[in-house]
Amino acid sequence: MIRTRFAPSPTGFLHIGGARTALFSWAFARHHGGQFILRIEDTDIARSTPEAVQAILDGMAWLELNHDEGPFYQTKRLYRYKEVIEQMLANDQAYLCYCSPEELDEMREAQRVRGDKPRYDGRWRPEPGKTLPVPPSGVQPVVRFKNPTEGTVAWKDMVKGVIEFANAELDDLIIARGDGTPTYNFCVVVDDLDMQISHVIRGDDHVNNTPRQINILKALGATVPQYAHLSMILGDDGTKLSKRHGAVSVMQYSDEGYLPEAVINYLARLGWSHGDAEIFNREQFVQWFDLDHITSSAGQFNTEKLRWLNQHYIKAADDTRLAGLTRPFLVRSGANPDDGPELSLVCALVKERAATIEELADAATLFYRTLHPSAELLALHVTAEVLPALSELVERFKALSWGRSAISTALKETLAAHGLKMPKLAMPVRVLVTGEPQTPAIDATLELIGQDKVVTRLEAGLKAAQA
Ligand code: GLU
Repeated sequence: MIRTRFAPSPTGFLHIGGARTALFSWAFARHHGGQFILRIEDTDIARSTPEAVQAILDGMAWLELNHDEGPFYQTKRLYRYKEVIEQMLANDQAYLCYCSPEELDEMREAQRVRGDKPRYDGRWRPEPGKTLPVPPSGVQPVVRFKNPTEGTVAWKDMVKGVIEFANAELDDLIIARGDGTPTYNFCVVVDDLDMQISHVIRGDDHVNNTPRQINILKALGATVPQYAHLSMILGDDGTKLSKRHGAVSVMQYSDEGYLPEAVINYLARLGWSHGDAEIFNREQFVQWFDLDHITSSAGQFNTEKLRWLNQHYIKAADDTRLAGLTRPFLVRSGANPDDGPELSLVCALVKERAATIEELADAATLFYRTLHPSAELLALHVTAEVLPALSELVERFKALSWGRSAISTALKETLAAHGLKMPKLAMPVRVLVTGEPQTPAIDATLELIGQDKVVTRLEAGLKAAQA
């Protein structure tokens, strides 16, 4: 049975790197018909916040990365960590260490002077025939794991290949602090064991934790899961991800008008590939996803590519859905989407060129706001030369059975009657009716704005120009 987990620490929002880890863990479970577990690693009380937990849940929900079990909170499992620590102490797999912070500092200083690597020297580690120091009074001991001292610990990482550490390099890890609280690496181990995780897919910033976790798992008699450590993601400019690119919350992408399916498609290609496929939906991704085609080199964030994918998905999206997403952007910008043409029809007209919903809303605004054209635009386009043609056009529009092709015909006939070229007439019409020199196709735009509004605005413009 394949069981994967996503185990974020709620110390910030769900950012692009975390979302990619979540996506790969989710997809691996889905591909194999397994289970995907969500675990909140909130034992760092000082840095964990309920807002961050909510932000993670929101991000996962927006991306539709649904979990089968959880969310499990580590702070609710403290009794269990305690139980395992007791068991390890009883089995001589862990021991109490009374070293004070000052003593540890001295130890490290002496090692530094000798040119040795700083490490715990095992002075409280029980060994057959060894006499331990007398426990000092008033010191709360920490609990240390009795790491093997010889041999190596190795695993075949599903992304990075064989990774091996010498046990001599690994300290006897503190698994419980003086106040009894369990430490990070230990909680991960107990959870991965209890939750029967078969594949740990996580960022490669955890590679150094893995040998310690494997040793503890082995001490507990557990089957060691498979590990896949994903390479980090670099920013657009090849440096570490920063807030300028990608290190923002995935919810910010929602706020900026990206579609979740675009973000999913984008994240899927960040360090994984299927031939040269660039555009594929979630189902396709789940069908294709495996750990064999994850690149071991760092992925690089590319905002332009994300925009390109988003544009693709906007074009493909249902117009009613787009209208629902566009509405709040319009309202925020002060436009009234209820005073004007049906929003889904406007979305259908303007979506061709929008890379985000925000841009879609910008393009839609002219249908919902009475824009007052600037004096410069009027002077440039509504010239004396074109006024007779504009007057005729208004008369034709009044009598028209309103529709795109009838509008187009009326424009062409007016042009012919006055010996003008299309832009000469289309520009003043655009400016007077929408306040903008650029609009989608003039006939389609006028059709959507509606006969009454078009006629009223043209007449008002003519009157002003003639005055
Ligand atoms: N809580 C860790 C983090 O947010 C992940 C631990 C793990 O995946 O093993 O980086």
